[in-house]
Amino acid sequence: MLVDVHCHLQDEAFSQDLEKVIQRAKDAGVSAVITSTQSFSEIEEALRITTKYPNYVYLTVGCSPILFDRAEIERIQRFIRGNRDKVVGIGEVGLDYYWEKNRRELQVELFKEWIALAKEVNLPIIVHSRSAGKYAIELLLSSPPPKVVLHAFDGKVGWAKIGEEAGFKFSIPTSIALSRQRLKLVSMLRIDSMLLETDSPVLSPLRGERNEPCNLKYALEKVSEIKKLSHREAEKIITETTLNFFI
Ligand SMILES: [Zn+2]
Repeated sequence: MLVDVHCHLQDEAFSQDLEKVIQRAKDAGVSAVITSTQSFSEIEEALRITTKYPNYVYLTVGCSPILFDRAEIERIQRFIRGNRDKVVGIGEVGLDYYWEKNRRELQVELFKEWIALAKEVNLPIIVHSRSAGKYAIELLLSSPPPKVVLHAFDGKVGWAKIGEEAGFKFSIPTSIALSRQRLKLVSMLRIDSMLLETDSPVLSPLRGERNEPCNLKYALEKVSEIKKLSHREAEKIITETTLNFFI
């Protein structure tokens, strides 16, 4: 039983063949998929998908770290407060110092709001951090929400270890084999700190191709190999961690 804990099924890349994408995921042994939003406009389509595939596609609602429109941010926050039963987490939210190098202070302020909301509504938080690993971990530690997963973490392993000590989880993406930093991350983190994700349609294990939840096995294979476990053993531990995290 495998869960893709982070992807974007409402993305346009899936608008033509989502039915087949879901079937391929099921055929590949993926038991559930969590789709994440990054803007208010995405929520409607994401909800349509979760309703169409009940008990298979779950939803987390978030906001891109480089979306600064105050009115839109408030609409998203209101949605989460009013629809607590329709979402399994807040995210993705976080810091992106790669795409937005200038407005760092504003990003920090907004991320603090999302952390506060995760605590208020008692939901897991799915954190995006790009070129900002240290800052994201520091902020989370300063006021820890109940449950934290760092998705596709690109920061230093030393910071990841500090997060791990605080109980944060790390979702390992399908593109793991393409990045030395991620291979190192997996070798240094404990297996029971890991979840798996595809981040579909991006982070494909095959460069240049659209990613899909059915590719989740690439992440499992690599994690098993690095941790010197059979696929079955690794899958068992990761599934247990995933269920404990989201339930
Ligand atoms: Zn994502």
